[in-house]
Amino acid sequence: MEELALEGGQPVRKNLLPYGKQWLDENDRAAVLSVLESDFITQGPMIPRFEEAVATYVGAKFAVAFCNGTAALHAACFAAEIGNGDEVITTPITFLASSNCVLYQGGTPVFADIKPDTYNIDPVSIESKITSRTKAIIAVDFTGQPVEVNEIHRIARDHNLLVIQDAAHSLGAKYSDKKVGSLADMTMFSFHPVKHITTGEGGVITTDSQRLYEKLLLFRNHGMTRNQDIIMRNEGPWYYEMHELGYNYRMTDLQAALGLSQLNRLDDFVERRREIAMKYQNSFIEMPGIQIPYQHPQSNSSWHLYVIRFKKEAFDKNRRDIFAALRAENIGVNVHYIPVYRQPYYQQIGYEQTHCVEAESYYEEAITLPLFPRMTNEDVQDVVRAVKKIYDAYLRTNIRFS
Ligand SMILES: *Cc1c(COP(=O)(O)O)cnc(C)c1O
Repeated sequence: MEELALEGGQPVRKNLLPYGKQWLDENDRAAVLSVLESDFITQGPMIPRFEEAVATYVGAKFAVAFCNGTAALHAACFAAEIGNGDEVITTPITFLASSNCVLYQGGTPVFADIKPDTYNIDPVSIESKITSRTKAIIAVDFTGQPVEVNEIHRIARDHNLLVIQDAAHSLGAKYSDKKVGSLADMTMFSFHPVKHITTGEGGVITTDSQRLYEKLLLFRNHGMTRNQDIIMRNEGPWYYEMHELGYNYRMTDLQAALGLSQLNRLDDFVERRREIAMKYQNSFIEMPGIQIPYQHPQSNSSWHLYVIRFKKEAFDKNRRDIFAALRAENIGVNVHYIPVYRQPYYQQIGYEQTHCVEAESYYEEAITLPLFPRMTNEDVQDVVRAVKKIYDAYLRTNIRFS
């Protein structure tokens, strides 16, 4: 057996392989430079072009770009008219933004449990959390695998709820052959550098609703309008009115140009992510004790993350030790995510009784392996070798798998 790097052996890699990373090329740089040399570096022509391209790609009528995905989610909660006392059901296994956006609007996030196989929000748990104050569901396509859209829509119809899809992980993914972005009342995509395409920081909401679209535009720009059809007076050509308390959540033209250029390579990026994920699946499927990501038959994931679970009962060491051993091999593993209600802030504002059984069990065992399009096949092999090395060292000797 090879000696683990953690115990003084040779690490599998000389330098750290990160879990995610952007891929920029000559065209991306040229696109940004051309905006730098133009008249508008913000509020110019690139924003509507990028928005139209995103809307077309996902098959939605409208897209509104924001300075980041979190701002986009905040705007979606505003457009959904979330306010004091309103409850919004979401998952605890997500990035903080998916529930913070509800708090920004004075609403109350309510955490439903996840499914033990997909790790996405469980429709049965959603139904059990509905009260007369429930207004919306924020469903997160965790790791890039779409949530069970049909079930969630049925619940939303039955209880008159709005569905916001947090698709930060699932640009390019499909559910029953329909692209994510055209499946919910509003869908959010993030363009942070670890996501499928990047604008540095950036986000977008897609929707088919003219009414929601107009609210999103208003919110992005201080609640200000010059629209002749809705202003109350007109004092002259300079005149504008503020109708809502909005923010400055605008994207710049530099970012939009980068996004437009990156969008050209999105399908290649997703294809490469799927290829790497399949290599992982094939490598780990024969390793009992490791739970590989289950894929729902109706979903076609775009694989933002690849998460495996080291089943507690199968190993001598816990997740913390396994994580440290992988890092010592220079594999940039990560954990996505700490259940949101465990955060000190959430504990202080009333979530100390919240406990989602499946989310907790997931959190104890999950490790995210590196996955990004620019990874070479050798990088993938390094990850597989490191996992096998640690598996051989830490697997319980007397374990029997049924
Ligand atoms: C990345 C991400 C967001 C948005 O993040 P920004 O960094 O603000 O663009 C929201 N939800 C999830 C699940 C994410 O992964």
